[in-house]
Amino acid sequence: MNNNIINLRDVLTDKRAAFVSENTPKCYRVFQNFEHICVIMTTNGAPLAYGYNTYKTDDYTTEHAEAMAFRKLNCVRKKLGIRGRLNVNLLVVRTNGGNSKPCSKCIECMQSYADKYNVRKVFYSNNNEPSGIQKETFSSLVNDPNKHISSFYRFQQQLKEDEMKEKDIITNKNKKHKNNTKRMSR
Ligand SMILES: [Zn+2]
Repeated sequence: MNNNIINLRDVLTDKRAAFVSENTPKCYRVFQNFEHICVIMTTNGAPLAYGYNTYKTDDYTTEHAEAMAFRKLNCVRKKLGIRGRLNVNLLVVRTNGGNSKPCSKCIECMQSYADKYNVRKVFYSNNNEPSGIQKETFSSLVNDPNKHISSFYRFQQQLKEDEMKEKDIITNKNKKHKNNTKRMSR
């Protein structure tokens, strides 16, 4: 594994871990899965933009590290003098070194930027690898039939479905009530 990537992984992991332990109340430690960091680099390994996972408990929204990094890069695209389609590599790291393979939503997000950025290689932390980092081409991630759906998105989806069911129950109840009152007045 490229030394530049290993160094970048170590620096980012330390910084993020320090930030989280300083800023996160202890009761939120359960959210350690959210300690993801992503850096978009040129194919030579020069960092262009960073992102980290965020979540809001009030409206159940979340932004993954990869999505944030691309959003940020897009904001400073002109400033950085990026014109046309740029070849980039990605490094995604979990502060505990756990598997941080991009999820299906993030892959979709990267595909939506395909006219601006051509993602070539994706490096992600994985404890099963001797170097702690797995390397994969973006196209192999896209073509992976077993894409990972993040637990937060699954949770969010479940909430939406439950909400829809509840609405259905209420509208059905109202319909029944209307029908009953019609029948009664007849
Ligand atoms: Zn994701």
